[in-house]
Amino acid sequence: MIQMKNTGKRIDLIANRKPQSQRVLYELRDRLKRNQFILNDTNPDIVISIGGDGMLLSAFHKYENQLDKVRFIGVHTGHLGFYTDYRDFELDKLVTNLQLDTGARVSYPVLNVKVFLENGEVKIFRALNEASIRRSDRTMVADVVINGVHFERFRGDGLTVSTPTGSTAYNKSLGGAVLHPTIEALQLTEIASLNNRVYRTLGSSIIVPKKDKIELIPTRNDYHTISVDNSVYSFRNIERIEYQIDHHKIHFVASPSHTSFWNRVKDAFIGEVDE
Ligand code: NAD
Repeated sequence: MIQMKNTGKRIDLIANRKPQSQRVLYELRDRLKRNQFILNDTNPDIVISIGGDGMLLSAFHKYENQLDKVRFIGVHTGHLGFYTDYRDFELDKLVTNLQLDTGARVSYPVLNVKVFLENGEVKIFRALNEASIRRSDRTMVADVVINGVHFERFRGDGLTVSTPTGSTAYNKSLGGAVLHPTIEALQLTEIASLNNRVYRTLGSSIIVPKKDKIELIPTRNDYHTISVDNSVYSFRNIERIEYQIDHHKIHFVASPSHTSFWNRVKDAFIGEVDE
């Protein structure tokens, strides 16, 4: 039997608006209070997102400036997601694991994006999945520079740079490779490149190691749309964009019932394999 004592752990709960997520929110809030956890939505030790992967992305962005202090847990109210370790019917297990928690964590790389504008402004973003750039109306043309090497002149709809954990999201739909999240690397993937006798790009996605920097230099000014996970921004007259692995990582509470990455990939994309 587990002894009840004030755990001292501060927890924030973030849920989407779906009725099922709201039900889980109320039930979990109640159970955490009964078990002497402290609910805190500004300076928590642990953030629990309730919903799906999209909700975990929102939780990440709420605390993206406190990544070193916070650990995350995802509760999925649908099928098991990529950032979620618990299903909505596993709240007993979740509370027990929180009581037994020793501070152990599992950490994954985050993408840092710096957008340099011609007026001298620099906009900095962090992404957990990816950052994509497109030109608002016509073909996007941009020079791709990898670690100072002018690699190619890209023409097409756009480009995306993803993290290892983001490799199974938009990157995969674009034909990018699935990367194990412990590999510290970024992946640059094309969105509908123009490839013919005149224009040429590599055509496949590129995986760059931890210390390398990817730069994009749009050659045509005007508006570009930059998507960072589930947020969209529009910028006029971008001088260049720099992509690197961030100095901070995202930390998840290490769960004894953690589903292995390859099982998640199999569940999500393949299902049962006929023997
Ligand atoms: P959402 O919550 O509807 O997410 C869209 C889908 O992507 C969901 O099924 C979600 O489970 C899945 N997903 C999210 N992160 C994932 C990951 N790391 N690995 C595998 N699947 C993942 O929409 P949202 O809240 O706007 O989420 C934004 C994310 O959706 C973006 O970061 C992008 O990766 C993804 N997305 C994918 C496509 C596509 O595949 N064509 C298009 C747009 C956005």
